[in-house]
Amino acid sequence: MEDAKLSERIAYVKGRFVPETEANVSILDRGFLYGDSVYDASRTFGGQPWHLRAHIDRLYLSCRYARLDPGMSADEMESLTMELIERNRGVYVEGEEFRINHWVTRGGGISSAATHTHGAHTLVIFTLPMDYSRYAHGYREGVPSVVTGVRRIPPECIEPRAKVGNKMNHVQADFQAQEAGAWPIMLDMNGFVAEGSGYNCFFVRDGEILTPTDYNCLVGVTRTHVIDMAKELGIPVREMNLTRYDLLIADEAFHTGNSICILPVSSVDGTKMAHGAPGPVTKRLMDLWASQVGCDWAAKSLAAIEGC
Ligand code: PMP
Repeated sequence: MEDAKLSERIAYVKGRFVPETEANVSILDRGFLYGDSVYDASRTFGGQPWHLRAHIDRLYLSCRYARLDPGMSADEMESLTMELIERNRGVYVEGEEFRINHWVTRGGGISSAATHTHGAHTLVIFTLPMDYSRYAHGYREGVPSVVTGVRRIPPECIEPRAKVGNKMNHVQADFQAQEAGAWPIMLDMNGFVAEGSGYNCFFVRDGEILTPTDYNCLVGVTRTHVIDMAKELGIPVREMNLTRYDLLIADEAFHTGNSICILPVSSVDGTKMAHGAPGPVTKRLMDLWASQVGCDWAAKSLAAIEGC
């Protein structure tokens, strides 16, 4: 869009770059009607996309699972995304961080129509400014978390490794946690820790990092990065079945996701983490990541909410 104002974000919708205010998807789109969609979300550091290809690769795995066709190769998707980012450069100030979102839905259809697996699928890509307001304070003092009664939908029903558009399972967990002013930790149907409503969960006990296996959670790009960093720091990591007991006796805990990065947890169900928040292991991981990307993302988020 040559004439779009530089102050307005540009989105990519069904083959066209359009100003965000003109970006529309039909009311008959099955993504809107039935949550018949997949998506992925990534972010920037210093205004540059971080692990974009890993997010695009996961999007394509989600598409294969859901039998959705983005209508282009992963290479093309990556180039298109970089083009969108360049077209939005004038909107974000130098070094400002933003989110990068990809959505693929099954497109038009009504409930009586057979679920089609080919063609006419909707692809939307857009960017959004980071909103640190909900979590930035947690980098300093941690966020309280609770184990919700709402369980994670099991893999037999919907595969947790696929990032699917219907988030009602997580939304219900969020509602329950918000009642307690806390962040949700969901168990699976066997009572083992699964994940949060939009993040993976990690615990530290006796110097070892513990996290659920990928049987019952999304394989977060951040989760993988944290495991890699732990290896680099020589900190042992174990993927295992964890129960609520393991959470209550943990020394430290933190959540991971593309927006929050590593968010320290202060307590689980009111029981304080023995080594505080952020605990020393959590802090080492946060510091290594900040030095890797040349961006103290925790300080940046805090500064943003404190208006510095
Ligand atoms: N679990 C769920 C349910 C999520 O929505 C997310 C956020 N994408 C994550 C975990 C963390 O994934 P990532 O580190 O790739 O953002």
